Amino acid sequence: VKKKGSKYEKQARPVKQTAVLGAGIMGGGIAYQSASKGTPILMKDIKDEAIELGLKEARKLFAKQVERKKLSTEQMAEKLSNIRPTLSYGDFGHVDLVVEAVVENPKVKEAVLTEVEGLVGEDTILTSNTSTISITRLAQNLKRPENFCGMHFFNPVHRMPLVEVIRGEKTSDAAVAATVAYARAMGKTPIVVNDCPGFLVNRVLFPYFGGFSQLVEQGADFQRVDKVMEKFGWPMGPAYLLDVVGMDTAVHAGEVMAEGFPERMGSLGGAGEKSAIQVMVDNERLGQKNAKGFYAYE
Ligand code: NAD
Repeated sequence: VKKKGSKYEKQARPVKQTAVLGAGIMGGGIAYQSASKGTPILMKDIKDEAIELGLKEARKLFAKQVERKKLSTEQMAEKLSNIRPTLSYGDFGHVDLVVEAVVENPKVKEAVLTEVEGLVGEDTILTSNTSTISITRLAQNLKRPENFCGMHFFNPVHRMPLVEVIRGEKTSDAAVAATVAYARAMGKTPIVVNDCPGFLVNRVLFPYFGGFSQLVEQGADFQRVDKVMEKFGWPMGPAYLLDVVGMDTAVHAGEVMAEGFPERMGSLGGAGEKSAIQVMVDNERLGQKNAKGFYAYE
């Protein structure tokens, strides 16, 4: 779907007003990216602190562009006003597309998606930024599963070009088309992929995290592993990447992967012996989100 005018985009309904559920690492990043490219977005969370953090992060990213003279302060103010923070569903009746980016827990996601489906218009496209949970599974209680698909961004959203658009069993071409078009309007490179736990990227990434976790459990020094993987040519090592992703998110996603592919994935948390990553969560070392993970942050 790289070329303009592909079969998906020809069917795209315009996406003019959007919303994101969750103002965490991903929700905040998605709100920034949408606002920066000119599509207004409601940013909803259940916690005031999360909204504050999401806005602070967006302000910081816009301010950097002002520093680099890529934006004037007036332009920054205008772009920032594209983000409308909220703790309520008040204006959701008018949105064309919603990105759900709450915690990686199937039950929470199902509840949130059902709730929002009851409040939006009949044609509104619902998408989920889940890292691993099957889209067909998340659609099972929806009344309009044809309007639902995956829209999986990568972290940090403003820097990572790829967006996986995931087609569930009942997803319509129109929903895929609108999502692809929105991803492209955000300056991203959408790829349409089939549905399975972890989709494409995380099916490759999670066995890698599992391998890293095992090495640490067997006594390897995480900093050395990072250095070796950087020398191997990767932009960052697995410990640093886990700090970026968030240890709790990795454990939740690892559980979904282990359930989906028990013979291949192993588990990053939960069953049997505790994984190194689960131990990090138990010690509240969540990564950059709380300034301490494998590394310490300011
Ligand atoms: P996070 O913990 O930083 O943020 C989750 C946010 O959701 C929190 O602010 C929380 O208050 C909010 N929330 C919880 N219940 C809610 C509800 N009912 N309504 C509105 N907000 C609610 O998590 P994150 O890292 O931003 O991950 C969010 C989603 O994105 C997960 O599904 C995750 O798997 C996925 N994802 C994460 C990454 C990553 O690298 N962290 C990358 C791609 C996708």
